[in-house]
Amino acid sequence: MFDFTKDAEMLMPVEIGDYTDFYSSREHATNVGIMFRGKENALMPNWLHLPVAYHGRASSVVISGTDIIRPKGQTKADDAEMPSFGPSRLLDFELEMGFFIGTGNKLGEPVPVDKADQNIFGMVLVNDWSARDIQKWEYVPLGPFLSKNFATSISPWVVTLEALEPFKTKRTEQIPKPLPYLQSKGNWLYDINLEVKLKTAESEDSFIISKSNFKNLYWDICQQLAHHTITGCNMRTGDLLASGTISGQSKDSYGSLLELTWRGTEPIRLSNNEERKFLQDGDTLIINGWCSGDGYRIGFGEVSGKILPAK
Ligand code: MN
Repeated sequence: MFDFTKDAEMLMPVEIGDYTDFYSSREHATNVGIMFRGKENALMPNWLHLPVAYHGRASSVVISGTDIIRPKGQTKADDAEMPSFGPSRLLDFELEMGFFIGTGNKLGEPVPVDKADQNIFGMVLVNDWSARDIQKWEYVPLGPFLSKNFATSISPWVVTLEALEPFKTKRTEQIPKPLPYLQSKGNWLYDINLEVKLKTAESEDSFIISKSNFKNLYWDICQQLAHHTITGCNMRTGDLLASGTISGQSKDSYGSLLELTWRGTEPIRLSNNEERKFLQDGDTLIINGWCSGDGYRIGFGEVSGKILPAK
């Protein structure tokens, strides 16, 4: 008998031409801002006015199950005079979701926010692996580069927006009101349960380390696409636009180890008594996502990846 979970090999659902990663969770942006800039300057002045993002690397987007080799890079400790080179010591995950462009737009013709859903095919789970020590040293002033380009994992099954229709949720009012080109009228956030599990080299089981929900986002998918194309930037079929880390308000809903361990100052204890600040070699990180309907469930499957030692 063909066992679909064991005998089928999952492949990339599309050939991704371009990949962009947003930063659309207010809780995540606030947490990271507090850690790096202090409570007073947590959110940058632009954050409530536009969906912040960076252009990512499409070539290293990989399918769930692909091993992740710990990246090496340049880092600099606060008290060190000079930077040093070696394997990243602060390897992290980011709990995200992403959507694929179905129909592209022509160069020079932005996608209007109230029609943006027509260009979106469907959604997948995303893990935006992040090397925090490399990121901290390199990110000023142009944002993440090598700290993110070594791998981004996605789940293989694309769930269409039609299937997600019953799970649309109303967003709380955005204050200040966004500029007209970003005023999205429909409900483009979805009630999608998200769960993060960690399995260590020593543990038989995996342990839940976070529970979040896609509806926690501030900027919705139509606003993201409208903003991305407002300059006339053209999208092509199969382009991937990811949400950014999806953190909720409570500590158990944070979408990265950076936040869960508060930059490593509060290690998490797993139920087998192991502790983690950041990911270690041999760790497997698994993200699940699903919508619970009345008597049915729409599953996204999982996106998993195991950390292998640096080469
Ligand atoms: Mn990210």
